[in-house]
Amino acid sequence: MNATALNALIVPARLRGGLRVTSGPGHAERSGAGRSASPAASAAGQGAPRTQSGDDAQGQGNRPRQHLVVIGNGMAGMRTVEELLKLDDQAYDITVFGAEPHGNYNRIMLSPVLAGEKTVDDIMLNTPQWYADHGITLYAGDPVVAIDRRARRVRAASGREVGYDRLLLATGSKPFVIPVPGADLPGVIAFRDIGDVDAMLAAARNHRNAVVIGGGLLGLEAANGLMRQGMNVTVVHVMDSLMERQLDKPAAILLQQALEARGIGFMLNANTEAILGSDRVTGLRFKDGREMAADLVVMAVGIRPNVDLARSAGLHCERAIVVDDTLQSLSDPRIYAVGECVQHRKTVYGLVAPLWEQARVCASHLAGVGHNRYSGSVTSTQLKVTGIHLFSAGDFIGGADTEELVFRDPRRGAYKRLVLRDQRIVGVVLYGDVQDGPWYFELMQNQTNIESLRDRLLFGRAFCTPPAGPTGGP
Ligand SMILES: Cc1cc2nc3c(=O)[nH]c(=O)nc-3n(C[C@H](O)[C@H](O)[C@H](O)COP(=O)(O)OP(=O)(O)OC[C@H]3O[C@@H](n4cnc5c(N)ncnc54)[C@H](O)[C@@H]3O)c2cc1C
Repeated sequence: MNATALNALIVPARLRGGLRVTSGPGHAERSGAGRSASPAASAAGQGAPRTQSGDDAQGQGNRPRQHLVVIGNGMAGMRTVEELLKLDDQAYDITVFGAEPHGNYNRIMLSPVLAGEKTVDDIMLNTPQWYADHGITLYAGDPVVAIDRRARRVRAASGREVGYDRLLLATGSKPFVIPVPGADLPGVIAFRDIGDVDAMLAAARNHRNAVVIGGGLLGLEAANGLMRQGMNVTVVHVMDSLMERQLDKPAAILLQQALEARGIGFMLNANTEAILGSDRVTGLRFKDGREMAADLVVMAVGIRPNVDLARSAGLHCERAIVVDDTLQSLSDPRIYAVGECVQHRKTVYGLVAPLWEQARVCASHLAGVGHNRYSGSVTSTQLKVTGIHLFSAGDFIGGADTEELVFRDPRRGAYKRLVLRDQRIVGVVLYGDVQDGPWYFELMQNQTNIESLRDRLLFGRAFCTPPAGPTGGP
C-alpha cells in the first residue's frame, strides 16, 4: 500500500530566515518544539509563556506565544488545530504527537480503501507540507506515554519530552476485542486504522475465508470490503438483526437481503465462544456448539474510549475524559480534550459530526475568543457500501407516546419510517431512497411542527415545499 508514512518525521519549523529541521527519534526535546528557535524556547519547558524573538517576531508586536501540545494526530485533534489556526495562527507554537506513523487521514474513508475504491493517498487530510506550512512540529509514530501535570510536560515512547502551556488530548478510541480464547491469534484483526486495512488486504491476497464478528456499521463495511477483495465472507452477529442500534426490523431485513444478493453470508444469534487455531486462526466456535472455518477474523464489535493515558495522569474519567461545555477537562484548566476520548454531559460519541462541533468550540477557547458552548449533538448514520442506501437518526423505535408514519415499496426495495412525538419528528429510518434524509434530520433537529405537512411528509421535501414563484416582477 502506498501510504504516506512519516515515521517520526519532524516537520521543519517555518522561520523567516529559512527552515529549521530538528533531530530524529529519541531526541530529548527539553523545550517546546515548533516555530521558535529562540532561547526563550527553553522556558516553555517550565511552562512559561514564550516570546518570539528575532525576525519572526517582527510585525507581531512581540506577542507572547504559548506552547500547545496535541496528543493524537487524528480527526478531532487536527480539526481543532485547523479551527484554531483560522482564528489565530500566532497564538501558539504547536507540537503534535501521533501514535500512527502517518499524517492525519480521513478515518471514515478506510472502508472505501478496503473496498478498493480509494487509495490511502486519496484519504490523507493533512500532508507533511501542511504541517510545515503552519510551522507545526509533528512526531508521528511516537505515542505519548506519560503526562506530568505538575511540571507541564509530556513524555513520548521515544523518550522525547516536551513542555506545554496548554495540552489537548485527542486520543480517540480503541477497538473492543471480545475476551475469548484465541483472540490474540495471528489473523485476528480489528478495523480501526491504516495498519488494520493493510493487514486485511494482505490476508485477502493469501487467504480465502473471512469471518467478520459484528453486524453493525463497521462490521458490514469491513465485510463488503473483504468481499470486494475476493474473499468468502460471513458476518457473525450476536443479535437477531443487523445494525439493531440504527435500523428497525423491516429495514434490517432489506439490508440483509441486499448484502446476501452480493454474496455475503450471515449467521445471526451467534455468540462466539472461542477462536480456534494454534499458529494462526483456523475457525470459530459458538456457544451453541456450532463451528465455522476461517483464516481471517475481523472483530468489529465496538469501541472503547482511549483514556489510559488521561487516567494515569489523574484526570477525571468515567467512561471517557469528562469535559465541560468548553471542552476543558474537569480536573485541570490547562488540559482540553476532544473526540471519541471525551465524555460530555454523560454522552460519548463515535461519529465525526459531533467532533467537528467540539473542535470549533474548543478551538475558540484555546484562541481566547471563546464565547461558544458545546451543548451536545444529535447524530445520524449512513452506511458506506456502494449501491446500498440507508439513513437513520434519533429514536427510530419509539414508544407508547409516539406515532409512526410508514411507507413500503417492496418491489423498489424502499422503506421509510418516521417516528413522531407531539407532531415533531423524533426518529427516522430510510432504506433505498435516502434523498430526504438530511431534510427529515433538519426538521428533527429544529423540532419543527409538521402538522401541516403530515399527509405529504413521507413523500419527501419536493411534495411539502411550495414551488418557487416566478422570479421576475409582474
Ligand atoms: C472504518 C471506519 C469507518 C467509519 N465510518 C464512519 C462514518 O461513516 N461516519 C462517521 O461519522 N464516523 C465514522 N467512523 C468513526 C470516525 O472515524 C471517528 O468517530 C473519528 O475518527 C474519531 O476521531 P478522534 O480524533 O476522536 O479519534 P481518531 O481519529 O481515532 O484519532 C485518535 C488518534 O490518536 C492517536 N493516539 C492514541 N493514543 C495516543 C497517544 N498516547 N499518543 C499519541 N497519539 C495517540 C491514535 O493512534 C489516533 O491516530 C468510522 C471509523 C472507522 C474506523
